[in-house]
Amino acid sequence: MTFAATILTLYPDMFPGPLGHSLAGRALAEGLWSCDARNFRNFATDKHRTVDDTPAGGGAGMVLKADVLAAACDAVGYGRPMLAMTPRGRPLTQARVRELAAGPGVSILCGRFEGFDERLFDARPIEQVSIGDYVLSGGEMAALVLLDACIRLIPGVMGATLSGEDESFETGLLEYPQYTRPVEWEGRTIPEVLRSGDHARIAAWRKQQAAADTRLRRPDLWERHDGVRVGTPSGAQRREQDETT
Ligand code: SAH
Repeated sequence: MTFAATILTLYPDMFPGPLGHSLAGRALAEGLWSCDARNFRNFATDKHRTVDDTPAGGGAGMVLKADVLAAACDAVGYGRPMLAMTPRGRPLTQARVRELAAGPGVSILCGRFEGFDERLFDARPIEQVSIGDYVLSGGEMAALVLLDACIRLIPGVMGATLSGEDESFETGLLEYPQYTRPVEWEGRTIPEVLRSGDHARIAAWRKQQAAADTRLRRPDLWERHDGVRVGTPSGAQRREQDETT
């Protein structure tokens, strides 16, 4: 099954963009996902093909017109989740990404200027999604971020690795720290446990590190995580201890 991505944007040439490269690019060439970027300006009805107008109540910038966007959405249809990228949306999570990746695909509305006429969301089944608490100049890069997160989870895209599974957020925690050769670099050595070949000990160490680093770096995630509340020192402290014992 192909994961079908339809993007409604004023800049269709921005797609697939970076997703034409590397893992996602290969998957696109292999037909594991499809990318159909359409210009919603084609749904404007006046001779100037107007897509925006001044904000009701005054203020800076321009607002995307509900009638034009609704016509564009209706033409695509609602057989797949219809998402609108907006900082006012629900923050994207790995859990939502997983659900979307397991489905038939997504349609994505990319905003520009001051965003969308709010009535669009009252009148059509559209899920508003934010990629974080900062403001971009347009929804295209947010859409690329969402698509990238989905595409790497499509079966067959990441190859034989299990790496989907214990990565950051999959367990509700950050991933444990990673190391690779050389064993010693600028006087710093890879923690001994990772060189021990003892898989049970390695697994326990990683679990403990993931918990400690999450607690230290992301107390918000840690609070929500309903695993065992292990009273650990910070990850960095723990790594130092391991070096000296
Ligand atoms: N006036 C709006 C911001 C508009 S930014 C506000 O203050 O809420 C222009 C467009 O960029 C938005 O319509 C949206 O499509 C996109 N965008 C900006 N920041 C985003 C974010 N954090 N997540 C998702 N899309 C975003």
